[in-house]
Amino acid sequence: MDIFKAGSRASITANPDWFTGTVWQDPIVETPDPARARAVSVRFDPGARTNWHTHPLGQTLHVVSGAGRVQVWGESVQQIRPGDTVWIPPHEKHWHGAEPKVAMVHIAIHEALDGVHVNWLEPVSDEDYQTDPQ
Ligand code: MN
Repeated sequence: MDIFKAGSRASITANPDWFTGTVWQDPIVETPDPARARAVSVRFDPGARTNWHTHPLGQTLHVVSGAGRVQVWGESVQQIRPGDTVWIPPHEKHWHGAEPKVAMVHIAIHEALDGVHVNWLEPVSDEDYQTDPQ
């Protein structure tokens, strides 16, 4: 058994190749093989968001604080708020992030397939990001 004491694992800044703006990641679940579960708390500064991407086995997002946005390719931008839970099916192209003027924290839960839990695509344009959400 491993007990990871609060504050014992450093926050990580997300790779700018895959995110716009400042994003912090705090690991919650990083299971060794053959387990596949992953969970990470992600904090997006105002205006920050992921690139477009897909997940080989899907992903659940649970919003903890602030105010955010999520969008599926070809659909409208949606608002997400604390307490909301989002399921993204395998291979569905999407992005998630903060509101333009408000930060957002969500817990992202997903499984890895052959060590891969995300396939990164292009950045979300300012035009797409700033579209008024539904
Ligand atoms: Mn995702």
